[in-house]
Amino acid sequence: MTTPSPALPQHDSPILPTATLGVMGGGQLGAMFAMAAKRMGYRVEAVSDVADCPCAHHCDRVHVVSYEDRDQLVEIARSLDVLTFEFENIPVAAARAMQAVVPVRPAPEVVHTTQDRAREKAFLVENGFACAPHRVIRSRAELEGAVTEIGLPCVLKTAAFGYDGKGQQKISTTAEIGPAWEAVGSGECVLEGWIDFDCEISVVAARGLDGSTAVFEPSRNIHANHILDVASAPSGLPEAVASLAREMTSRILDKLDLVGVACIEFFVTRAGQVLVNEIAPRPHNSGHLTIDACVTSQFEQQVRAICGLPLGSPRQMRPAAMANLLGDCWRQGEPAWAAALGVPGVSLHLYGKRDPRPGRKMGHLTAVAATIDEAIASVTVARQLAAG
Ligand code: AMP
Repeated sequence: MTTPSPALPQHDSPILPTATLGVMGGGQLGAMFAMAAKRMGYRVEAVSDVADCPCAHHCDRVHVVSYEDRDQLVEIARSLDVLTFEFENIPVAAARAMQAVVPVRPAPEVVHTTQDRAREKAFLVENGFACAPHRVIRSRAELEGAVTEIGLPCVLKTAAFGYDGKGQQKISTTAEIGPAWEAVGSGECVLEGWIDFDCEISVVAARGLDGSTAVFEPSRNIHANHILDVASAPSGLPEAVASLAREMTSRILDKLDLVGVACIEFFVTRAGQVLVNEIAPRPHNSGHLTIDACVTSQFEQQVRAICGLPLGSPRQMRPAAMANLLGDCWRQGEPAWAAALGVPGVSLHLYGKRDPRPGRKMGHLTAVAATIDEAIASVTVARQLAAG
């Protein structure tokens, strides 16, 4: 779904190849961004606090620097034509300082809103987007009061620096309040009501400099141990639910005035309600299948959006499913890639990480097929064959 801008604001001139695109963060999302940008003829420089990162295999240069070293970051920014990021836990003050010398897209204000659960929830409530009932918590006493108000079960989450379920504790009984506070409760937290959801979906979308949006098909996401396990699209949900999720996504990007790519994760309740869980102001793990299944991938959209180019078509050409390859797949040694790649429609994406620790995202497999059930079956079988 591509929508033209309702009103065309002043159009900055596009940033064209062979300009230099910067990406804050050196992980796989940055690496796949770099692959898309390099294919289009751009120069790509990553800014990372580790030299041996996935980006290093695909970028022209990696600036190894602490994200706290504002002066050096600003110096690096001077050599770039535009800067984006591949993870949102970057100091906003540094991003603001860089913005003074180079366009930062999405803007640091978007990062500021979305890197803190309390601020993100306030943004959602202020703008009328449905989300789980919640309270901001600063002390054990506040937690006890909030549990009484929200009811059990509920989940306590740190406001900042949480991802893949880290910094979260489910509370099912009053006896679990104390241990949950001990485990999570330093600094600001958010207590959320537990949603007995029918399924989890996410919608990746791009928004251009001119305010136009391009929204991908919602994907249906299955998590294991709080980490995305399998994502598949189309979601198979009733069209009314899918179009509501797409429309909410588009409006969230507009309200944030976001230029770039973002992913909105939703809970779909048994009553068909669509509740926002989280906003990621960058490409997302659940959008990796766009590389193999869509006219334009989420990473090419990121390049187009931040460069002020027209967005590509987000149309999905074939049903697709993606399965993450965590370090656990290496338990028996190097996975059997030839066996996995023998499954029709399957493609392999490895991120070049050396140490396959359990739970670490090492790569993913995508399967495309004639039907979504076939795509899910193929990617699942391929991963089983790989892990042995
Ligand atoms: P998050 O890091 O907030 O995306 O949470 C990670 C995962 O935990 C989600 O994808 C859900 O599977 C689960 N989860 C988080 N919050 C809730 C909630 N309020 N109700 C039910 N499940 C949740």
